[in-house]
Amino acid sequence: MSQIVDHLAELTGFRDRDVLDVTLVGALRDLLRPQEVAIYRAIGEPGAQVWMTRARLRQGDTTPQADPLWAEPGSLPALDSAPERLACLQRQEAVLHSAESAWAWFPVTNEQHAIQVLELHTARPLDAEALRLVCSVLRIYRNFQDLLDYSERDTLTGLLNRKTFDESFLRVASAAAAPVAGAQTAVRPELRRFAPAGQMWLAVIDIDHFKRVNDVYGHLIGDEVLLLLSRLMRSTFRFHDHLYRFGGEEFVVLMRCDDAEAAAAALDRLRQAVAAYRFPQVERITVSVGFTALRSSDSPSAAFERADLALYHVKQNGRDGVAGHAQLVAQGHLQDRERDNKIEMF
Ligand code: GH3
Ligand code: MG
Ligand code: MG
Repeated sequence: MSQIVDHLAELTGFRDRDVLDVTLVGALRDLLRPQEVAIYRAIGEPGAQVWMTRARLRQGDTTPQADPLWAEPGSLPALDSAPERLACLQRQEAVLHSAESAWAWFPVTNEQHAIQVLELHTARPLDAEALRLVCSVLRIYRNFQDLLDYSERDTLTGLLNRKTFDESFLRVASAAAAPVAGAQTAVRPELRRFAPAGQMWLAVIDIDHFKRVNDVYGHLIGDEVLLLLSRLMRSTFRFHDHLYRFGGEEFVVLMRCDDAEAAAAALDRLRQAVAAYRFPQVERITVSVGFTALRSSDSPSAAFERADLALYHVKQNGRDGVAGHAQLVAQGHLQDRERDNKIEMF
């Protein structure tokens, strides 16, 4: 009993979802001594979804295995490669299978998404008490996920809120930013899982003339536009890109792209999708976007300011466009104050 309570205390002691998944499999391994326990998440575009291993412990493992958060979906197994797991996900109910040993799958859901499955492989079928234990632990896990959602997400759009930005910026960006010329960044081992292979980018997206939408159609219609825009963002960007609602009608994206052209292309896809979308009553709206590459020495506010300067340039030059800070500097439209300051110091 005290072992269970200890595990529950540990489970709810972290405010980090990745650590939470690792803690959950660790707890179930200690409580049930299975041959294997794992959490898998269905990710990717509908119709081409794959399994990402969030955390897996096999007998004898000292540390859990997990796919890198930035794994290319093409490198992961397709959903139908694990039919029982898929059945559990689709039916949203536990699936039990006993032969020489026993397998069990449990849906791990929360309000936002029903996309994870807990998989247990045990020497013998789980008895009633063990089943109850798994279900109770999962209920606590789900409640805790809901609490995290509540504190991290914007209630209107479900996107991450501004409060969460600084924390995840430091976690993702410091591990991921490509070093500026000459600088060496050592990636802390616990951050390595968050480190994508490519360059990280920050973009600020602002709706054009949104005040008019509110003035002409009212705040409720304005709010609906914000909600629909957040859906367009979710379908445009990849699952591991971080999407934030920053303020009223201002959105931020933290994403990985190989180079400035790829980042501009991804952001322009969103710009075009918004321009082509017919919003109820309002019909057409457009967005302006400014973006910048993250630097290894960046603070959240410094990176944001560069992207915002690029956004301001788009606003001054006809709106409905995308601009990168570095290109604007290269073209002489903007000054790179940070780099200039550094040069002055030497
Ligand atoms: P610009 O093209 O220069 O961005 O023009 P704009 O009218 O969009 O100007 P700005 O970005 O300064 O305006 C922000 C407006 O967004 C002010 C306010 O009416 C509206 N707004 C801010 N938060 C909310 C919200 O939560 N809901 C709704 N409906 N409107 C909001
Ligand atoms: Mg605006
Ligand atoms: Mg604005």
